[in-house]
Amino acid sequence: MTTLTDPSLFQTSSFINNEWVDHQDDQLEVINPSTNQIIAKVSDSTRSDAEDAVNAAQKAFKYWSGFTAKERASVLQKWFQLILENTEDLAKIMTLEQGKPISEARNEIIYGASFIEFYAEECKRVLGNIIPTVDKSRRLFTYKQAIGVVGCITPWNFPNAMITRKAAPALAAGCTVVIKPDPKTPLSALALCELAKRAGLPSGVLNVVAGTDSQGIGEVLTQHPSIAKFTFTGSTATGKILMAQCAKSIKKVSLELGGNAPFIVFNDANIDEAVEHCIATKFRNCGQTCVCTNRIYVQNDVIDNFVSKLKTGISKLKVADGFDEEATIGPMIDRKAVEKMDSFMLDAKSNGAAVLLGGKRHALGGFFYEPTLLINTSKNMRILNEEIFGPIAAVESFSSEEEVIAEANSTNYGLAAYFFTRDIGRVMRLSESLEYGIVCSNSGVFSTEVAPFGGWKQSGIGSEGGKEGIQDFYETKFHSMGGINT
Ligand code: ADP
Repeated sequence: MTTLTDPSLFQTSSFINNEWVDHQDDQLEVINPSTNQIIAKVSDSTRSDAEDAVNAAQKAFKYWSGFTAKERASVLQKWFQLILENTEDLAKIMTLEQGKPISEARNEIIYGASFIEFYAEECKRVLGNIIPTVDKSRRLFTYKQAIGVVGCITPWNFPNAMITRKAAPALAAGCTVVIKPDPKTPLSALALCELAKRAGLPSGVLNVVAGTDSQGIGEVLTQHPSIAKFTFTGSTATGKILMAQCAKSIKKVSLELGGNAPFIVFNDANIDEAVEHCIATKFRNCGQTCVCTNRIYVQNDVIDNFVSKLKTGISKLKVADGFDEEATIGPMIDRKAVEKMDSFMLDAKSNGAAVLLGGKRHALGGFFYEPTLLINTSKNMRILNEEIFGPIAAVESFSSEEEVIAEANSTNYGLAAYFFTRDIGRVMRLSESLEYGIVCSNSGVFSTEVAPFGGWKQSGIGSEGGKEGIQDFYETKFHSMGGINT
């Protein structure tokens, strides 16, 4: 077991009303996906813990939302600093429970913290309006008020940043939060609570309920009368269930769901750069992100060159335990994820795909899967229609711009899209034609706290990051003030 400089960051109980709530007899096991060994037993919280957490958050709301924006910002800035000071320990905890290479874990801690810094600043600049009046005896204006208690459900692929991306704007706005992390990765969430407590976040403002009863805890976070807003990151299938639950009491809902990102390479592109970014967007986090490249389209006359360079690049990836400093690909999250890759491969091969690299479980065993490259795929294959969420890359050819735009848009998803071309007119045409919330030209790098991240179609509702990311945590109040001339 890796050692931490500060072992008190390794918390194993839910965090409710600034207290660690332990159920000695009911524990969930957290597994290191690199070794398949149990690394922690975490108190398995229940529906009733979630109710306690919502009640604590409700009680804390009036106090916290009564702070000035500057006062809230000062606590959040302390939290931000403490996270940065503890980057190495937080990264180790993440690699232990999630498996990602330690270098990616360190980057996620810094990325996650950036939302706290950004919203600590941004909450001071959330403004209302003064509206020209329609009646001389009245004045019209709007202002923003924190919406109330926010329920959050987060996934295992970014165990830190998916929490801060929701909690930071919510807390900055004056809301209080109850978070259910994925039971596979509760430790990163609980470590954040320890630092929030040290930063001076008042009791009940931030609560984390870790438990295997996702449905029970989820029902509380989507249906409890004190929850004003619900925000979720995860699969589209689960998002639909949770949105339906929220409908019963008309809760405000934000969803960050699945993707099916196209990566399009035109014949005038810089092929070396396209290959480099294709590998980065396809294989980051072992292909387990909602913005990972899912379908690769390359123009006919450059496809051989592209595929040959892609093959060379993929062969250089190092599959290893995340704690190996050289690792670029860690394990998949669990056995179910590996089995899904097996079933994609069976489907692709039986329908005529050719395997240029990988295509099977890795010799390291456990949940490791070989980085895989396929060609000769066809439109009916599952890998071109479903979110792969794993290290399989499939390359398709195309002939015209019109054809590839139609192909890229032929999905119910609409999160991220990537394309490479040096034609400036085409850059703008694609930017406007792709039905995606995020488009990236000539680069696969885009994640930042200063810009909105959100999906179209069945990829989601709302945005996280940027000035947009805080708006949903407020209600707008319109005040019509009369009696001015009397
Ligand atoms: P994945 O399939 O990648 O694990 P999910 O959408 O199932 O993605 O999970 C994302 C988050 O949603 C996790 O925290 C998980 O525990 C939670 N979750 C899954 N099913 C439900 C449910 N029915 N109610 C509430 N939360 C759920």
